Amino acid sequence: MTRLLIIGAGAAGSVVAKKCAKNRDIFSYIHLASRSINKCQKVKDECNSPIEISQIDADNINDVINLIEQIKPDLVINMALPYQDLPIMEACLKTKVSYLDTANYEPKELAKYEYSWQWAFDQKYKDNNILAILGCGFDPGVTGVFCAYAKKHLFDEIHHIDIIDCNAGDHGKAFATNFNPEINIREITQKGKYYENGKWLETYPLSISKDINFPEVGPKKAYLIYHEELESLVKNIPTLKSIRFWMTFGDEYIKHLQVLQNVGMTRIDEVEFEGKKIIPLQFLKALLPEPSSLSENYTGKTSIGCIIEGVKDGQNKKIIIYNVCSHEKSHQELNCQAVSYTTGVPAATAAIMFAKKSWTGNGVKNVEEFDPDPFLEELAKQGLEWHVKEL
Ligand code: NDP
Repeated sequence: MTRLLIIGAGAAGSVVAKKCAKNRDIFSYIHLASRSINKCQKVKDECNSPIEISQIDADNINDVINLIEQIKPDLVINMALPYQDLPIMEACLKTKVSYLDTANYEPKELAKYEYSWQWAFDQKYKDNNILAILGCGFDPGVTGVFCAYAKKHLFDEIHHIDIIDCNAGDHGKAFATNFNPEINIREITQKGKYYENGKWLETYPLSISKDINFPEVGPKKAYLIYHEELESLVKNIPTLKSIRFWMTFGDEYIKHLQVLQNVGMTRIDEVEFEGKKIIPLQFLKALLPEPSSLSENYTGKTSIGCIIEGVKDGQNKKIIIYNVCSHEKSHQELNCQAVSYTTGVPAATAAIMFAKKSWTGNGVKNVEEFDPDPFLEELAKQGLEWHVKEL
């Protein structure tokens, strides 16, 4: 029986807590800690079995160490923001407890994410006999496991991967982000990047787009953006010749984003306002709807997967492996929208893999380094069915 500490009671963290609370044959103790205790209390009230809660500022390593020493978890699941990855990883190292997250570290003052900071913990985690599972939401997360599954069962060599992510849902708001607005806008407004023939190529933000036919939702305009799993997949699938990431955005979303950018509201440097220093993007975040508040009238589906090309038994082959998730069903089951559901359920599934010792080892690993089979079997049981089709 496994003891869990979940840090972060936002849109995705609340799904992890509620899903784990439905799996009490595996998790004997669940503790949810976050910056605002009222959010933890709301999640506790919505869990179908008892969990403990507390307030914490996870930027403070000593506070995280104290909480870990007090409650003695086997695994810490970081569902706060990417800024907290390093302090929480450091606290896990000091207390010799394993770690799991869904997003790559990025420094607050620079909108740039890469794995170097977290991979640097690898030897120290090995020396202390603990495991860090990095990036186990949907993308990154399930997309990496899909690639590992394709590598294990469907191809002798993988050559090309296009990760495709569509939210064809409608929340009825003029402009809202489906996960933390600050992190989301930082991701989308930075330069695009993709990998081709041994080189990384940069593009201007949202300058490349094409229509993609998404399973169950049909053709949608998708934009090339950089996404963190590209970095780890290039490292872990050495036969890759190209990998790109495509995400859909509606015209209304792009229009709002352009206006906000043009007037400086997406800036991440400090500006002086009435004698105070403020960061415009953080101010904007305070005005936008919380992603956890969107689920009530959300209609439609997400459709996310990987189009993979390569060679099997000497023949060229192309497949798609994907999941489609309904906003309404997510709301009915866990009072959340599908973007939070598809992030939180994989994290809870990875915690089950850790608890059942289906995913083991020491050091810092990305999800495609583990056996995909038990994970994908469990993922479907936990609510995210997946499908493979030849193209
Ligand atoms: P939210 O903003 O809804 O939730 C973040 C939570 O973390 C909030 O409750 C926030 O507290 C809390 N928090 C922030 N700073 C601290 C801190 N210093 N100490 C303790 N708690 C803190 O974001 P999401 O739930 O949408 O996203 C959570 C994570 O999931 C992000 O890292 C995001 O990038 C990742 N993600 C990953 C995806 C994937 O597929 N891999 C997809 C979507 C998201 P407060 O409520 O007080 O602000």
